[in-house]
Amino acid sequence: MNVIRAKVLGFCFGVRRAVELAEDALSEAGGVVYSLGPLIHNESALAQLEKKGLCTISENNLDTIPNGSTVIIRAHGVSPKVTAALEEKGCKIIDATCPRVKASQKMVERYTNQNDYVIITGDKNHGEMKGIAGFAGKNFYQIQNQEEAAALEPTSSQKENVILMSQTTFSVTEFAKIEEICRKKFSNIAVMNTICPATSERQSALLELCKKVEGILVVGGKNSANTRRLYELAAANCPIAAHIQNAGQIPQEFFSLQTIGLTAGASTPDWIIQEVEESLQKA
Ligand code: SF4
Repeated sequence: MNVIRAKVLGFCFGVRRAVELAEDALSEAGGVVYSLGPLIHNESALAQLEKKGLCTISENNLDTIPNGSTVIIRAHGVSPKVTAALEEKGCKIIDATCPRVKASQKMVERYTNQNDYVIITGDKNHGEMKGIAGFAGKNFYQIQNQEEAAALEPTSSQKENVILMSQTTFSVTEFAKIEEICRKKFSNIAVMNTICPATSERQSALLELCKKVEGILVVGGKNSANTRRLYELAAANCPIAAHIQNAGQIPQEFFSLQTIGLTAGASTPDWIIQEVEESLQKA
């Protein structure tokens, strides 16, 4: 059996960095390290970290973190209010905010402070968006879709300086449509490309792979949105495709194929990809 990996697969830069920082903090702290929300959208990887002492706490339950604890901020980032609350509790903060998210936070802070009109596209309930919103001044608008873009009603002064940006994982095609709507509404608009290429790079590599194999295995958490999107793409472009979380879930039909393609979401650790590949090779 021939197993071919996608040219780009698995951990993105931001998630890899967050996991490495957590591993270091856990061995240094020698006890519990708190994470504000799940550090990684992968059950097996999270379970391994939890075994070593990682404890996931909701941002709404900061008061349950003992004073002086070590707390890791995940790649999505948090609002300055959360950081201040942790500082007040004397916590040691490990900041694993992805540099791309950090750049968006700084942009929002700078532009809204100079009274520009900032529009950001994304999921208002997502941790990244909640964190970014915490850096904003008054002229800050979060929109989720084209309908909300069409409903924006600028005042004449707001028409002067308008910045359009997005959550790092927002859809490129949806953003382009929203940009079109906003360009018609605002005479002076600057569009910032804040969409992270990690998702599109994995999708392009997968499309290339689909041309060379009989079946595709997509490895990653069921709760990982980017992994699910990879699976949808594989199912539409390859005769056989399956979304699995680990080697134990490889469907039987894959063991009779000659050439199998392997890809994985941005939150899938290397060791899980390796286990899947080895199980196929051993069969
Ligand atoms: S997807 Fe991009 S922005 Fe998000 S954590 Fe990974 S590298 Fe950072």
